[in-house]
Amino acid sequence: MKGKIIKGIAGFYYVHAENGSIYACRAKGIFRKDNQKPLVGDNAEITVLDEKDKEGSLTEILPRKNSLIRPAVANVDQAFVIFAMEDPAPNFLLLDRFLVMMEQAGIPAVICFNKQDLAGGDESGRLAGVYRDCGYQVICASARDGSGLEEIRDTLKGKTTVVAGPSGVGKSSLTNLLQDQVQMETGEISRKLKRGRHTTRHSQVIPVGENTYLMDTPGFSSLYISDMEPDELKGYFREFGKYEGKCRFPGCSHIHEPDCEVKKALEAGEISRLRYDDYLALYDELKEKRRY
Ligand code: GDP
Ligand code: ZN
Repeated sequence: MKGKIIKGIAGFYYVHAENGSIYACRAKGIFRKDNQKPLVGDNAEITVLDEKDKEGSLTEILPRKNSLIRPAVANVDQAFVIFAMEDPAPNFLLLDRFLVMMEQAGIPAVICFNKQDLAGGDESGRLAGVYRDCGYQVICASARDGSGLEEIRDTLKGKTTVVAGPSGVGKSSLTNLLQDQVQMETGEISRKLKRGRHTTRHSQVIPVGENTYLMDTPGFSSLYISDMEPDELKGYFREFGKYEGKCRFPGCSHIHEPDCEVKKALEAGEISRLRYDDYLALYDELKEKRRY
């Protein structure tokens, strides 16, 4: 039977199988031999060993679409990054850091600004505008009054989505609302997953509908960008794309060089100052890291 690994803990992989049940499976030695460690998010083939106790064995990991190192998850279709408009106010450097990492991993990111009920209409329009102008889908939502929820459902439907964001922005509130719809189905799932709850926080996958999964990601605020040359960074700021190759100097970093089209666009207000400042901050950080 086929299924998806939704959690791995203490040597067991919990597999949400196509029949809707969750089986606790052990991985046989075959994976160690191939040097392939099963990841949360992997699609797998399992053999049911005990239907009553829902126990099985992982027999095969199906080919992966992609995988992330941090969090260690596989087969991610998109990332959904949540910040609050207020309380706490958004940390844009953290948001841009995350967006860069997703660009690097080739995973499309959707931005959600929650707690719209706390912000004025102007403010939410301005925040959303900055990122829409860069080419991102932005959803303004409120877990309090339910606004934006339909758009979130549409965006998640049929996909496996990494959900990220700092604490306090309303991630649990929003995911709980999304889960309500499929409570019958997930009742059993939540009970099973609660077992391992109090141990170290691992990534886990929450089924929220047919072929629709959310992955939560612990440790969001300690994100750092790794394995990147400073000169690579500009390639991950979408809005720089249309100026690339048009500056006077080939390989322009868009920082100190004269006749830089990105800086001209910045002065003309076509590129957001906020995003550009985060570009500088991340660039310096990567430069600094390389000195060690
Ligand atoms: P998490 O840490 O990201 O999972 O955030 P929670 O879902 O626990 O929410 C943190 C706090 O913000 C709680 O007190 C929620 O009631 C509150 N909260 C969540 N969403 C909203 C919202 O849309 N509007 C308002 N006003 N408060 C919210
Ligand atoms: Zn330039």
